[in-house]
Amino acid sequence: NKPKLLISECLCGVPCRYDGRDNYIEALDLLNEYYELVPVCPEVLGGLGTPRDPAERQGNRICTADGTDVTTQFIRGAELTVRIAIECKCEQALMKAKSPSCGYKRIYDGSFTRTLKDGHGCTVEALLKKNIRIYTEHDIDLLLAQKKR
Ligand code: SF4
Repeated sequence: NKPKLLISECLCGVPCRYDGRDNYIEALDLLNEYYELVPVCPEVLGGLGTPRDPAERQGNRICTADGTDVTTQFIRGAELTVRIAIECKCEQALMKAKSPSCGYKRIYDGSFTRTLKDGHGCTVEALLKKNIRIYTEHDIDLLLAQKKR
């Protein structure tokens, strides 16, 4: 039985990014060998369409550049993602860096100038509260090293 790994759906090649593109990662086949992947896109789960206007965290709110408040959808997406993670017994998650939903440790600062600040995306924040370990596409090696040991 392979352990479950929650994964940002765009990393699997699904074009669910705000701009209708994906963030496919080369290591997907290898990850698939070692883990049972559970793909989720919190923003789509929260009811947002694709493509959609990009949004950034501004404190506890999430807004698009024109000021549209999409906090409700982002929170709904975070809640549904946590529910899926728990139901599927995922103890770890591979999430897309810098996203206002999936980012870990560093995210865009809300000024829409591609400036980063310390902080998590709101889905990652919710996953961490449930003690789910977070990785990003920048530390896939750590995830794979666990399995090759
Ligand atoms: Fe990818 Fe997460 Fe953004 Fe969905 S919300 S497109 S999974 S980074």
